[in-house]
Amino acid sequence: MKIISALATGVVIAMATLFMWQAATEKQSTHLGTHTKTKDIAMKPTNLTLLGLTYPFTLAPLPYDHKALEPHIDEATMRIHHSKHHQAYIDNANKALEELPELQKYTLEELLTNLDTLPESVRERLRNHAGGHFNHTLFWQMMTPNAQLLPTEKVATAINQAFGSFDAFKELFNKAAQSRFGSGWAWLCVNKDKKLVVTSTPNQDTPLAVGMFPILGLDVWEHAYYLKYQNKRMDYITAFWSVINWPLVEKLFGDGLTAVE
Ligand code: MN
Repeated sequence: MKIISALATGVVIAMATLFMWQAATEKQSTHLGTHTKTKDIAMKPTNLTLLGLTYPFTLAPLPYDHKALEPHIDEATMRIHHSKHHQAYIDNANKALEELPELQKYTLEELLTNLDTLPESVRERLRNHAGGHFNHTLFWQMMTPNAQLLPTEKVATAINQAFGSFDAFKELFNKAAQSRFGSGWAWLCVNKDKKLVVTSTPNQDTPLAVGMFPILGLDVWEHAYYLKYQNKRMDYITAFWSVINWPLVEKLFGDGLTAVE
């Protein structure tokens, strides 16, 4: 009797295992089925690479203390902006890419220069959140507590050539930042003709999406200044000129000239 009972138990276990295996296989094939739909996404390579970050994205620490940019940008704003807002862009970009593992190998720049080719299910989320991760990662580095107030040699020359003078450039950049309705960014970029241009983008759109290489950017979302400056966006824009990391802008300018070739 014991042997028969043992045999019966064995059969039950074997059948249960078989059933579970079948269920798992079915689940897997459904999963694989979803993948094949997006396997042939025609992603174009890009030279517009500044960061080269890939999934899973993580929040890098600020390159200086949260209060290091005081009095121009206050500690509380830096803390919330970096640890909450930037983190949220990262989390949401990662979530979107978890749904489409085929896209995980691409850099932020590849994703953002191929928005039109991305599957609709993730396109807007990557535009906003991968865009947000890209823009903020640059933004923290574009500021420094040890700022010189004027651009370094090559950028200074290029600015004079493109805009007539540093003051004329400043006025143009301020205007782009001030007049961006709602949320967005003001930029100094290298365009396809290797010329410096001032532009602005809405929301978390990046200059990459229109073939431009950003070398300086200012976040004009209210979350970037409201705690200290409330509705006075222009005061925040004015303060930004005291914290610009010009040596980095100079480096990016050199990178940009090569990248847009
Ligand atoms: Mn922001």
